[in-house]
Amino acid sequence: SKVPPIILNNGVEMPQLGFGVWQVPDAEAERVVTTALESGYRSIDTAAIYGNEEGTGKAIAVSGLPREDIFVTTKLWNSDQGYDSTLRAFDTSLEKLGLDYLDLYLIHWPVPSRGNYIDTYKALEKLHADGRVRALGVSNFLPEHLRRLASETSVIPTVNQIELHPYLQQHAARAFHAEQGIATEAWSPLGQGRGLLEVPALIAIAQKHNRTPAQIVLRWHVQLGNIVIPKSVTPSRIKENIEVFDFSLDDEDLAAVSALNEDRRLGPDPATFDMG
Ligand code: NAD
Repeated sequence: SKVPPIILNNGVEMPQLGFGVWQVPDAEAERVVTTALESGYRSIDTAAIYGNEEGTGKAIAVSGLPREDIFVTTKLWNSDQGYDSTLRAFDTSLEKLGLDYLDLYLIHWPVPSRGNYIDTYKALEKLHADGRVRALGVSNFLPEHLRRLASETSVIPTVNQIELHPYLQQHAARAFHAEQGIATEAWSPLGQGRGLLEVPALIAIAQKHNRTPAQIVLRWHVQLGNIVIPKSVTPSRIKENIEVFDFSLDDEDLAAVSALNEDRRLGPDPATFDMG
């Protein structure tokens, strides 16, 4: 594969770049994920709340690829938090995906106001012990939530999937994850495409390397060591976004992208987000 792996803290290999399917309607998911698999992507990031696990699963099934060649992530939605409800939600997701095991299962948001991400995580540990998930992880967890997990549960999460792009570079979270052996996975790695990809500094670096601004941003993530899951429904962009392993940014380019940080979120604040 053209995408190198990141070795997670439990020895499982995860492609450093995968394909995200948020906001892809279920009816389109099979076509879009098929394009991604044909373009060389071997990691797919979905979630129960995206409503497209079935279309995603169909694309995997018809791809003809061996199951072990594809790394599949899905996420437990907020309203399913709790021990028993997590076990049930997992079965539903796996059935929709048409799979008999999952590669990575994430708690989508900590929802600290519900106060049950610990019980939820214990259900994930049970699924892991039963061999139904190869790796456990979390999403949108702040260091305080990770510290609580570390003191009350036994399996360290392999990844924390957080909002991370040039406008929100998450220096403190990345340093904390590195210290704990948790891989940082970037959601909305392209800043959702809005505005960011038209920034003159990025266009200049893109011209210098004869690449696109999206490729420059993705390459910046890769050189920082982040796992990335860009999304697109446009075949040419799906292909473009994976072509980032045959060139390098120099120190000056990296510094210019890093200079774009504004500590600005596009999505909700994990400390308070409680949609269920
Ligand atoms: P993204 O940063 O990947 O941006 C996607 C958008 O950027 C596209 O819709 C398109 O408008 C534009 N784009 C993509 N490729 C382009 C290209 N080559 N040139 C120009 N424009 C391009 O945004 P995202 O979808 O929010 O995030 C990626 C994935 O992260 C999601 O699909 C989902 O899997 C995951 N995610 C997770 C969470 C979470 O809470 N865990 C939240 C948001 C997203």
